[in-house]
Amino acid sequence: MEVLKCQKTGSVAMTTPTYPDRFERAEELAKKSLALLIKTRVPPIPPCYAVGYAFFEGVPDEVHAVIQECLQKGEPLGEDLLLALYERYILPDGYERFRSVRTDLERLLKMLLKTLRAADDDNKTFQQALLDNIKALETAEDSLALQNIAQSLLTAAQRAHAEQQRLAEELAQARAELKKAHTELDQHRRAALMDPLTGLYNRRGFEQVLHELWNTAPVLTMLVADIDHFKKINDTYGHPVGDVVIRQVAETIRRGIRGEDYAARYGGEEFVVLLPDTDLQGGLQVAEHIRSRVAKLRLVRKHDNLAIDAFTLSVGVASRRAEDTPETLFRRADEALYLSKAGGRNQVTSLV
Ligand code: GH3
Ligand code: MG
Ligand code: MG
Repeated sequence: MEVLKCQKTGSVAMTTPTYPDRFERAEELAKKSLALLIKTRVPPIPPCYAVGYAFFEGVPDEVHAVIQECLQKGEPLGEDLLLALYERYILPDGYERFRSVRTDLERLLKMLLKTLRAADDDNKTFQQALLDNIKALETAEDSLALQNIAQSLLTAAQRAHAEQQRLAEELAQARAELKKAHTELDQHRRAALMDPLTGLYNRRGFEQVLHELWNTAPVLTMLVADIDHFKKINDTYGHPVGDVVIRQVAETIRRGIRGEDYAARYGGEEFVVLLPDTDLQGGLQVAEHIRSRVAKLRLVRKHDNLAIDAFTLSVGVASRRAEDTPETLFRRADEALYLSKAGGRNQVTSLV
């Protein structure tokens, strides 16, 4: 953990993000990441660039918190710090875990192949023993010869049975290991779709759910919500309080929706909600309920009992039209959110 501390130099200003579409957002994050590396004289090699990108995206929050602290204190980032963040928070989540499960699976497949080949050889030996004994039967002339044949068959059958048992055990073990690998992969896949700070879906999870719902929910309403003046909350009370605010808003959203609805943290302090089988009117009610609940939240900072100023949420609502694609529906809800912001914040706006 030592290496995850800042070193000393100048600060970097963060600009205010707007509400662009996917490409523009990625482009903006990419540019910011590069600008940050160049300004702080960190070589823009891929891992450092990935950390910069993750910082501006706000995910994972550990990366965001460490860099934010450095920048706030006016301390430099340094290649070592970024590489350490990369290895600790970005690499393990993706490639490393994937690679370890893949190695396990490879080992299992090789073992299975070996076992099956051995079983095939054993079967061939047993078949040969049967053929040999059939031949011997044709020429057997007395009961002793028959007894010898019976004994030889018994031995071959016993050996085959033992081999079959060993094979069954190995297969059972392989099956158990495969099941474990499957569960791990499943957990890994799920984790990649969840936001660790709030337990809601993350942006990738949201996109997956939206595309799945698209085929099954002709009636669908989408909410896009963003905490108002959130940067001020961070600036006034610090990043950890900002995180608590994000969590509380997430919890309020979770409580304001039904079991068949989906909520996601789309980015830093931005949320998306999908309401299947809900029309615009219903969506507006849900949005208004969440907005008013958030405005009533009151938080107290633990270590000094400082009362945190009340905060608010702006929401945009749009319902699916026949000609919509997932992207046009999102864009309309996002435009409605923009109108809520422009109209003074702490309000719900819909676009038909
Ligand atoms: P607006 O009312 O227009 O939405 O203003 P705003 O200040 O809420 O919006 P802006 O987009 O300027 O600021 C968002 C801030 O959220 C900037 C960023 O540092 C912060 N942020 C992003 N992710 C996280 C996070 O995970 N935790 C915390 N505490 N802050 C975050
Ligand atoms: Mg905001
Ligand atoms: Mg925002």
